[in-house]
Amino acid sequence: MLKNFSMKFTGTIRSKLTRSGDSIFAVMSKLATDENALNLSQGFPDFDISEELIALVNEYMKRGFNQYAPMTGVPQLRRAISKKTENDHGVFYDPETEVNITAGATQALYTAIAAFVKDDDEVIVFDPAYDAYAPAVRVNGGTVKHAQMEMPGYRINWDSVARMITSRTRLIIINTPHNPTGAVLKPEDLLRLQRLTDKSDIIVLSDEVYEHLIFDGKQHESVCRYPELAKRSLAVGSFGKTFHATGWKIGYVLAPENLMKEFKKVHQWVVFAVNTPIQMAMAQYLQNEETYKTLPAFYQQKRDLFLELIKPSRFKVIPSHGTYFQCLDYSAISDEPDFEFARRLTIEHKIASIPLSSFFKDGRDDRILRFCFAKKEETLKKAAEILCRI
Ligand code: PMP
Ligand code: GLN
Repeated sequence: MLKNFSMKFTGTIRSKLTRSGDSIFAVMSKLATDENALNLSQGFPDFDISEELIALVNEYMKRGFNQYAPMTGVPQLRRAISKKTENDHGVFYDPETEVNITAGATQALYTAIAAFVKDDDEVIVFDPAYDAYAPAVRVNGGTVKHAQMEMPGYRINWDSVARMITSRTRLIIINTPHNPTGAVLKPEDLLRLQRLTDKSDIIVLSDEVYEHLIFDGKQHESVCRYPELAKRSLAVGSFGKTFHATGWKIGYVLAPENLMKEFKKVHQWVVFAVNTPIQMAMAQYLQNEETYKTLPAFYQQKRDLFLELIKPSRFKVIPSHGTYFQCLDYSAISDEPDFEFARRLTIEHKIASIPLSSFFKDGRDDRILRFCFAKKEETLKKAAEILCRI
């Protein structure tokens, strides 16, 4: 029999994250489940992943690849990522010293922040910012400085970034294609960042998890393509996004050897190594570049279908050129705060989205919701039917 006693720590808890509640993705996905609503909130596909990839994981498990992988990842996958980066960007990262496999991009980002941010260091992020950056900085004693992306197009104002840089600036975190807005950085943005950080001690952490989800013929501007920037950057990728398998939690980091050395020092204590059979399967699957070269067309078709279907609605489209997110302005429908509106849509109209204010430090609320279009055609049709009725 289980003893019934109140399980509670009676000492003083000195919380390291006093302001953090549950992430908005957890909150909205739970609400969607509780309310039996269509879930276009948290970003994940609702269609099946490749049978071939599943078979490969299975095959490697049966062949006995079930024990710890080397700390930085299996050499086959590190080599495959190095080759992929060379094909995509014409840059060589040494698979022995400059590529590290991680348990998703989240672990990569946390580890990079923990490796470089010390007490009182400043880290610049761009609002609306993905929610994993700021808490990782704060847990490690750093201070987050929030630059504002500017409308139209959620552009970065590099002059204001220049004014934010101080002798304590340790890290600048960029994200392209950008979650939640779908904005995509241009060559001039990367060149400006390269000039801004030239000869400084600033490190750039580049979240590129949507590297292959980019539309309208645009080129993904990885930090890897800019030699002076690449020298001070860690680039982060996620196979969760690229291969529609967000639940597999596998990603990677590219960085010059001296930065990677510091990254690894923390990586080994955070996770040590990432699951072996999936790494082996990914290494083989990546040999065929069609597996990811087809993604821009695949997702652009979904975005375009979604946009076509919601044309009769009263929502105003904010152009998205990458990621699998579409932001919609509802100011013509309601002046409710975005969280309240998103909640009401989930409960009353049975469609869940993400309110954009949750990505702003100051809670800026432009009456915009983010919808994930990584969904089957039938899901997008159902979603559009609902949105057109609102
Ligand atoms: N960065 C961004 C911008 C993301 O949108 C996500 C997840 N959706 C991540 C990082 C985390 O990726 P992973 O699931 O591989 O941890
Ligand atoms: N990155 C995903 C999104 O933006 C969610 C990941 C998560 O739930 N932490 O929706």
